[in-house]
Amino acid sequence: MNFFCRILGHTWTHRTEDPKVSWNTGKDLVQLHPTASGEIRLYLQCHRCGERKDNPTREELKAVNN
Ligand SMILES: [Zn+2]
Repeated sequence: MNFFCRILGHTWTHRTEDPKVSWNTGKDLVQLHPTASGEIRLYLQCHRCGERKDNPTREELKAVNN
C-alpha cells in the first residue's frame, strides 16, 4: 500500500469498464455496427496507489465526490 494511502486513506475515483464491443457487418455489408456485450461495470480505483475496489456498495459510491 502507498505510504500516503496508509496515512490518509485511499483516494477513490470512479472508474468504468467498457463492455466488450464486437463489430459486425450489417445487412449492407459496408458499415460496421458495434454490438455491446455485457454491461458497463463501475468500480472504484485509488488515485494514488491504483488499488481497485470491485463491486462497491451504493454508500461507497456516494462517498466519492467526483
Ligand atoms: Zn490508495
